[in-house]
Amino acid sequence: MEMDLEHLRKPCTCGRAHEISVRGIWIEEGASKRLYEMLTEGELREFTAPVIVWDDNTSEAAEEALEDVAEICQEICLSSAGLQADNRSVEILEETLPEETDLILAVGSGTIHDLSRYVSSQRRIPFISVPTAASVDGFLSTIAAMTWNGMKKSLPAQAPLYVFADTDIFSKAPYRLTASGISDLLGKYICLADWRIANLVTGEYICDKICEIEYKAIREVVKRLDDIREQDAEACERLMYALLLSGLAMQMAGNSRPASSAEHHLSHLWEMEVINPHTEALHGEKVGVGMLLAEQCYRRLLEAIEEGRCYVKMYSGPEKQLLMDTFGAKGLYESVAEENTPDPMLEIDPDRLNRALPAIAGVLDEIPPGDKLREMLRAGGCCMTLGEIGLPEDVAGQSLLLAPYVRRRLSFLRIAKMLEIEGV
Ligand SMILES: [Zn+2]
Ligand SMILES: [Zn+2]
Repeated sequence: MEMDLEHLRKPCTCGRAHEISVRGIWIEEGASKRLYEMLTEGELREFTAPVIVWDDNTSEAAEEALEDVAEICQEICLSSAGLQADNRSVEILEETLPEETDLILAVGSGTIHDLSRYVSSQRRIPFISVPTAASVDGFLSTIAAMTWNGMKKSLPAQAPLYVFADTDIFSKAPYRLTASGISDLLGKYICLADWRIANLVTGEYICDKICEIEYKAIREVVKRLDDIREQDAEACERLMYALLLSGLAMQMAGNSRPASSAEHHLSHLWEMEVINPHTEALHGEKVGVGMLLAEQCYRRLLEAIEEGRCYVKMYSGPEKQLLMDTFGAKGLYESVAEENTPDPMLEIDPDRLNRALPAIAGVLDEIPPGDKLREMLRAGGCCMTLGEIGLPEDVAGQSLLLAPYVRRRLSFLRIAKMLEIEGV
């Protein structure tokens, strides 16, 4: 099926005309055939030197479906061993990409997409997305998540021109990747709540329509978790749809606000390895566990608000000593301090926060409780504990303290630094 983009581009109740740069998205069995037709006789026939970028795993997964396409394209097959979205892989891709290339076909999951979106935007040529797994919601992102000389960076790049998600390919992906996509998606329960709370507290822009379509897409996936686990084609299409929709939500909002907040900040923190050892866990796996930790913390605050035991307290700035002892020990204090300047907490008026507490409780109450979320993760075959993602169980407390500083964005986890629970 073709995703209805026109519907999303219509003037919106939030007052914005949402911009969507992607021209078309197909999620269906045989989407690769459609890509071939577009390249040979459709809108993409003007491109004379398309190049497929994949790695040995994704080429194996997709070569049958893309047989025709591969015949009319050049190919670059990267080695999957240690393949990362980093400056080394960018160099390799830039060196091997033929001079005359006028279109990149990214065939893979997150890493291949980040590399392709970055290199294509540097070359000022478009790229096409062919996701080989429903593993992340970043296929439509305009930002490339890169490791540059060891530092995690979000580099400006570009979104794909078209997405051809072939069910024959992605529904057969190694299941761990699909489970990771489920976790990345469920994390939206936290980040949408964070967005709505930030709107209540500071009046930050929000679009109800974006929230609504995201919640709806998540519900459709939650209904089908058992089927997704059995790699049922239609159920996997629902997951891919929801992940791509989350990407569209970011395009519509103009940033990652609808798709990344406290649960992602926890994941980013663990990637920085400030308080924990290195972990090989996948992006979504970390996000899923981050979601559970955030939910626990939010639930405590919700109960305190409802029982009249939650108070707004004086805010005295970022916890400098803590940041120096942790990020500082890794030489990252300066960059964290810079990320938090100006301090987003200064946007909060304590009186307004106090008045908003009942409404905040209403939003928190809509997050499915921890046991419900765990039930969903279990049904999806996803990771649920710090141990399962290769982290010591005792990093939970410090993770919740530090994660809000990783990005300059008001999550409720961050706002909670202005809240105090009586008797705790
Ligand atoms: Zn809107
Ligand atoms: Zn994510």
